[in-house]
This record gives sequence, C-alpha cells and structure tokens, in this order.
Amino acid sequence: MNLIVFDLEWNIGYQTRTFEYHGVEQTLRGEIIQIGAVKINEQAQVLDTFRINLKPRIFRKLQHHIAKVTGLTQQDLDGGVPIKEGLRRFVQWAGEDAAFAEWGLDDVPVLKQNLYLVGLDDTWPREWYDIQRLFLREYPRQEGEGMTLESVVERLGLPMDRPFHDALADALYTVDVCTRLDLEQGLAAYPTEANQLREALCSDPEAEYLDFRHFTGFLDKEGFRTQEEVQNIHCPLCEEKLSPAEIWLKRGNTGYYTLTACPQNHQWLVRIKLMRRDGLHWSVGRCLEKPTQQSLARWEEQKKKYLIRLQKAAEKAEKEKSGNQ
Ligand SMILES: [Zn+2]
Repeated sequence: MNLIVFDLEWNIGYQTRTFEYHGVEQTLRGEIIQIGAVKINEQAQVLDTFRINLKPRIFRKLQHHIAKVTGLTQQDLDGGVPIKEGLRRFVQWAGEDAAFAEWGLDDVPVLKQNLYLVGLDDTWPREWYDIQRLFLREYPRQEGEGMTLESVVERLGLPMDRPFHDALADALYTVDVCTRLDLEQGLAAYPTEANQLREALCSDPEAEYLDFRHFTGFLDKEGFRTQEEVQNIHCPLCEEKLSPAEIWLKRGNTGYYTLTACPQNHQWLVRIKLMRRDGLHWSVGRCLEKPTQQSLARWEEQKKKYLIRLQKAAEKAEKEKSGNQ
C-alpha cells in the first residue's frame, strides 16, 4: 500500500465562520492556503511530491498569526491557484483510492470541509492514519515530552534543515519520522474507529462492560439522544427493552452516561462516546456497564449536582424574564 503523507496550512478569519452541511451548522476550521504531500511506500521511500499554494475565497486576507507561523505573505495567497482548481489537482495527483497519513488529526477534517465548500467529493479520502499514533506505539511518551512535529524530529536526532510550518517541509519531516518506524506493522495494527471508541469507553480495568455498539454518520452532535438505533437498548440479562434515559450526564467533552433499567429492574449504566474524525460526521460508541455500589453512588451524587445546576439556571432565566418586564 502506498500512502499520501500530507500537511496543510490554512487561513482563518478574525471572526468564526459557519456553513451549512446538509442542514446542520458547522464551524469552518480554516481555509486551505497551502498543500504539501509526499507519496511513499510502506518502507517510507519517497515516490513523488506535491506542493501548491492556494488562493482562498472566504478568508481572503491573510491572518497575521498565520502569516507569522507559515511565513506566507498576502502575495502568496493572491498569486495562488484558485482553491477549487488547486484541490482538484490535489485529488488527481493523490488518486481516488489513496490512503492518507498526517501528523496528528487536524488536517483531514479541514481538507474535507474545504472539499465540501468548493463542491468536490467530501467522502474522499476514505482512509487515513495518524502518524503520531504510530510513533507513540513505538516511542511511548515520557513526562515533559512535546508532541509537535518539530519536537519529535529533534528528539529523534533527524536533520532539521527545512523550515517548519511549510506544508511540504512538514510532510517530508513526517516521512522522516516514518523512516524510524515499522510502518507496515503499525498500519496493520492501526485500530479501527470502532476499536478506538471501544478503547475510550471501556477503559476501566475493574469495570464490567457489555454490549459495545458502533454507529456512524450522524450530522448532529446531539443526534445520539434521539436516534432510535442508539436509544434502542436491551437488557443483557432478560432481553427486555431498557427504559429511555431522562438524564444524560456529561463525561469530558465527548462522553455521556446515564443509569437506566429494564421492566424487571436490572440496572445498567449506559455509556456514550462521540468522535468526529472527518470534521463533518459524528460517530457514536455505546456500551453498557454493570453498576457497582461505588458507581451507583457516583451517579446519584453527580445527578443531584446536575439537577441543582438545572434549577439554578431556570431560576436565573425566570429572574431575567421578570426583570425585563
Ligand atoms: Zn432485565
């Protein structure tokens, strides 16, 4: 398998911009102004390179921070290839069935948002890998170690003769890191999205998890609350339907959990983890956890706090309302 190792530089505005994606509002993460990419084989040998500057349509004025970091100028943007044409050339160069790789997970979502906004196929690329994950598999992170590409290149003692934050240079540095990895094995062991969600959900070695499920393709982050397929949960003991959750408590930025029971009063904690790898769609992992005395006590305590917060918010809203009259 060949890989397209790529890096993007993107411009942002002084105010956030949103756009509508199949009826759902999304925040634009940035508009691509430079693409650098390297085609490699599984031995990390360079087969071809690609580099292009793009002329943005939305964020036309180069943001000062982006100028500082990338070294790009307003002239570079103005003289770039119009973004739609540039993206089309990139797709053509990389190939329809290309597998992508990048340092971190930020670039594919930006690429897909931009493909959508110019009217190109945003289901491409279909497969991509985070080289940072492959790196950590062989070089577990030590305390105090940075994970920027620059700090890792330095840590590995690789030559640092190119400027960082130039798209092609960064893609080539990522390839340099790949030369120090067992790429073939790392890709073969790369966890699927379902396994990543399962790992994140079922992380406590003491807990007893059951019935892991994986759902994909939700446009709305809150979609899991109403989607029948996610909410239709059956008791692992008696097969009867669990009653729908009234309260979901948050756990981190992308996790939720609740306590529910079947008609025979078998209780279960339901855990939900959300993931948005492509910048446009949410995937949902769901599992059940057998409650323990401790986890039940924690649930009760956090639920109480949540209800107090809800009530305070309602009282505040009421006060503001009467204050306005
Ligand atoms: Zn039951």
